[in-house]
Amino acid sequence: MSRLVLVANRVPDPGERGATAGGLAVALKDAVTRRDAVWFGWSGATAEATSATPREAVHGRLTYATIDLGAADYRQYYQGFSNGALWPVLHYRLGVARFDREDWIGYRRVNAAFAAALAPMLRADDTVWIHDFHLFSLAAELRALGCKQRIGFFLHVPFPPRQVFAGLPHAQSILEALAAADVIGVQTGDDAGNLRDALVAIGQAETAPKVHAFPIAIDTAGFATLAARRFRTKEVDRLRLSLAGRALAIGVDRLDYTKGLPQRIAGFGKLLERFPRHRAKVTFLQVAPVSRGDVAQYRALRRELDEMVGRINGQYAEPDWGPIRYITRAVARPTIAGYMRLARIGLVTPLRDGMNLVAKEYVAAQDAEDPGVLVLSRFAGAALELDGAVLVNPLDADDIADGLDIALSMPAEERGARWQRMAAAVRSNTAATWCRDFLAALEDGAAARD
Ligand code: ADP
Repeated sequence: MSRLVLVANRVPDPGERGATAGGLAVALKDAVTRRDAVWFGWSGATAEATSATPREAVHGRLTYATIDLGAADYRQYYQGFSNGALWPVLHYRLGVARFDREDWIGYRRVNAAFAAALAPMLRADDTVWIHDFHLFSLAAELRALGCKQRIGFFLHVPFPPRQVFAGLPHAQSILEALAAADVIGVQTGDDAGNLRDALVAIGQAETAPKVHAFPIAIDTAGFATLAARRFRTKEVDRLRLSLAGRALAIGVDRLDYTKGLPQRIAGFGKLLERFPRHRAKVTFLQVAPVSRGDVAQYRALRRELDEMVGRINGQYAEPDWGPIRYITRAVARPTIAGYMRLARIGLVTPLRDGMNLVAKEYVAAQDAEDPGVLVLSRFAGAALELDGAVLVNPLDADDIADGLDIALSMPAEERGARWQRMAAAVRSNTAATWCRDFLAALEDGAAARD
């Protein structure tokens, strides 16, 4: 089998494989354990200048090849164009986006630098799989250096309607660069439709048929085992005892403005306001470690949440019950898995999300004998697969409150039936099938599912 070369903005820390690994490393585990592979990308370190040649670390059949980013490249490519412009636009948030011509130049420069460092490592029969919006122009840069390998691209975040994407300065260059890939994967049929429209609108009709939906998934069996094992540990016992028999609703997110956290907190407040019978009967635990804390919007979000949580707790708390527990420190993944199994409700309400793995993890973590209810945003890619969830509009705090009321009042039989449907979905589409489907489309020209 030919070698697989994965390229992503960040290369995972080799020590983080297994239970603590992030979503992408979990998703790609199947791909890298079945064949020789290289994982190429940014080390996470900054230096005076971006490295011209990668540092390599060999772990069995997998070689990690990393480069450092120069300080200006980090600012312009990563913080500026990727996080400041692309991230909000791709999540339908034109108004939050910040554009700067220098950031765009830095973005192109770093994509070219990735290509220049990667090209000499490539063998003629390698398969190259590029991940996510940081590297929209990489396939074109590799082609410009004469690379003829099969190149796939997968976009982990949503692709908005073409009129929204057109608001991004240099949108057309980005779409033209994407055309250099042989297969372009996105999360859902909606994303695929939007991206095809955008390509057709700029005269790239011949690229549109390369776009297909491959909904990303989790290691369902692995997460279920982790949750069951962690359920009987001291940390989870501590939480269980502290609830004193009350229901637990849980939210687990990076602290990001796409995750709908203020609306979610407001929704929980509305539940207590409009449905007094739930007061002192349910506790909401939100774990939201700070991410991108050096970006102004994220600091403002944190202040807003601090204030909202304080206000709702002040208004409804009893001497022996506080409505919201809000943790901005990181909590270990295995512990989160145990918490999810304990929670009667998984509250997952992003304003827009490519997929949302937390929703799938919540389903996988449940006890089949007594499963909880998923209250899920209609605007998460996961909503298309998890039709047993109580779907809500994440912008509407009253709708979230209604969803929570339905979930808290749901008879055990309905809870079980809804969960069975969702469990079947997360068992049939897993991280391993996702990898295989994408690579089959890229390497064998297999028909994608849409
Ligand atoms: P995103 O990639 O936008 O952060 P996803 O829900 O798709 O959102 O994936 C997030 C991954 O990170 C999941 O595997 C989830 O378990 C993990 N994660 C998110 N927030 C936390 C947290 N607060 N603590 C531990 N793990 C988290």
